[in-house]
Amino acid sequence: MVWGVNHSGLGWVAYDCCMDGCLFCGIVAGEIPAEVVHRTARTVAIRDINPQAKTHVLVLPVEHHEDALALAAAAPDVLAEVVAAGAAVAEAEGIAESGYRLVFNTGPDAGRTVFHAHLHVLGGEQLGYFGRL
Ligand code: AMP
Ligand code: ZN
Repeated sequence: MVWGVNHSGLGWVAYDCCMDGCLFCGIVAGEIPAEVVHRTARTVAIRDINPQAKTHVLVLPVEHHEDALALAAAAPDVLAEVVAAGAAVAEAEGIAESGYRLVFNTGPDAGRTVFHAHLHVLGGEQLGYFGRL
């Protein structure tokens, strides 16, 4: 744990940031640009750069944790905040009523590409079924 300034406007925070070479740590720190759509004390939500639905937002914990399971083990309260932020994003994006999907990809079979825990919020249109391609 280190104390550092968070350049995305959260002020001084204690965080396990930044993992060298971690894209999402770079975004959370404000060093890599992203479209931020929502923030809480311990989360930042950004629009996905390669959207898989009309609305596709990623909720990132500010602290670096490799995946949702590591986050659940180390900081279950932050995991709860990530999920609550996902619901707040859905409200803000106007998809709370129409419905949406919350997804944590884990491991290669799920197509995992960024190893900083993140919650996908997908919606804004009828989503396809999920599972086997
Ligand atoms: P996952 O496959 O669950 O690891 O998801 C990683 C997600 O991050 C993908 O949906 C990517 O499109 C998204 N992504 C990668 N780079 C960026 C970026 N610079 N800004 C926003 N989203 C990104
Ligand atoms: Zn990270």
